[in-house]
Amino acid sequence: MPLVSRIAPQQYLSEEGAYDFLSEAIEKLFLKKIIFLHGEKSLHAALPYLPDLQALPAEIVDFPFSGECSEAEIKKLIQTIRATGADALIGLGGGKVLDTAKAAAYHAGNLPLILLPTLASNCAAWSALSVIYAENGTSLGHRIYPKQANLVLIEPRVIAASPVRFFVAGIADTLAKWYETERLLRAAGDSSLAVIYARQSARLCRDIPLQHAQQAVRAMRDQKVTDDWKLVMETTIMAGGLVGGFADELGRATAAHSVHDALTTFSETKHLLHGEKVAYGIILQLALEKNQDEIEKLRPFYRSLQLPFSLADLNLADLPEDGIRELAAQTVTPDKTIHLLPYSVTEEKVVEAIQSLENLAVRQ
Ligand SMILES: [Zn+2]
Repeated sequence: MPLVSRIAPQQYLSEEGAYDFLSEAIEKLFLKKIIFLHGEKSLHAALPYLPDLQALPAEIVDFPFSGECSEAEIKKLIQTIRATGADALIGLGGGKVLDTAKAAAYHAGNLPLILLPTLASNCAAWSALSVIYAENGTSLGHRIYPKQANLVLIEPRVIAASPVRFFVAGIADTLAKWYETERLLRAAGDSSLAVIYARQSARLCRDIPLQHAQQAVRAMRDQKVTDDWKLVMETTIMAGGLVGGFADELGRATAAHSVHDALTTFSETKHLLHGEKVAYGIILQLALEKNQDEIEKLRPFYRSLQLPFSLADLNLADLPEDGIRELAAQTVTPDKTIHLLPYSVTEEKVVEAIQSLENLAVRQ
């Protein structure tokens, strides 16, 4: 398969008052009737900053989100688009809302799409893909579209007021971009400028969080919008998205996300956020690579942000040996992207890596 760059949303604005741009954007895109997909909490958080929806230059059709980016929800949304004759979609909310909006907009005929992320917990606003889930929350893999959103608007005050835990999960998901893609992008060399850009973006996904995340989280807890905070917030949304945006399959998730997907099959971890499971996936990947130095480097960072480092942190403290084996087996099923890495990963190796981390956690 050729590597195709889908670099960015066509327009992006992140500043206080960004939602005021909505009216002008709708006019310039010649939109007439727009489905407005949103989570309840997201709408509540965004409302003080949104313009009067009835006064926008297009008719707005309200569509509350069911809570899961599932086939059923996507289908329902497409049916509503068809039934109302809508010509565009706005998605306001967290990653699942945005992923659902992307899926429906594409499958309804590649309709214009406007995304208003209310959390910085992943790069969903940026990327040209959706992660699809079963109704019970099990990840069913992802789907890639030919283009990103027409417009992404970020009101920092909305994201700053969102739960800190989501922000921290986003930091972990962003950090994974570096660890998951570094080897593949390095192997691709400097033959393509797109790959060079992807690698630079991946580097920012590691460097900015490691340098600024702790101050950013502190600021957010104090309800302050600081430069550190803005930098980390935009890194999650933009730099994370640019890695896959430039390098396509070479910039996609690999080991840490395969571990995440495996964890979603354990109901004990259901209360954990995507990025929290990915955080454990990063550490497990480093254990697989026997990269002790990097594990030690990340450990205090994980501790200060309360990211999971051991099975106990994942609510899997009592996982019996065959449970560990099952987790390892799920991590290496043939469909998993962990196999994109340039070394072979077997169930046995994953079991060993999990156990080595358990030993480390005990010794802390
Ligand atoms: Zn992710």
